[in-house]
Amino acid sequence: MNYRDLPTMPVSLRSTEAITTGDWRTIRPVLNKDLCDRCYSCWAFCPDVSVIVETEGAFPKVDLNHCKGCGICATECSKQAITMVREDL
Ligand code: SF4
Ligand code: SF4
Repeated sequence: MNYRDLPTMPVSLRSTEAITTGDWRTIRPVLNKDLCDRCYSCWAFCPDVSVIVETEGAFPKVDLNHCKGCGICATECSKQAITMVREDL
């Protein structure tokens, strides 16, 4: 089998960076800076590369244009510094 044998399927013609995919999220991560020790486990575990660390030592930020609200960052945070909060629907 080679790639010619694979079924035809849709593919994106643009980078996912340019495509907003977080608009169907129902809950969002909210950071409590008083609890965060900047270990960056949330950055390491986010499956959507939606946790952003701009500089070493900075608090993490979430790219809400791409965050799906899966809650993995909140689960993996050993300091309970991330709370998943319901979106206004
Ligand atoms: S995992 Fe928790 S403590 Fe670590 S950087 Fe992320 S929010 Fe902060
Ligand atoms: S909720 Fe999920 S997608 Fe959003 S930042 Fe956390 S781990 Fe990433």
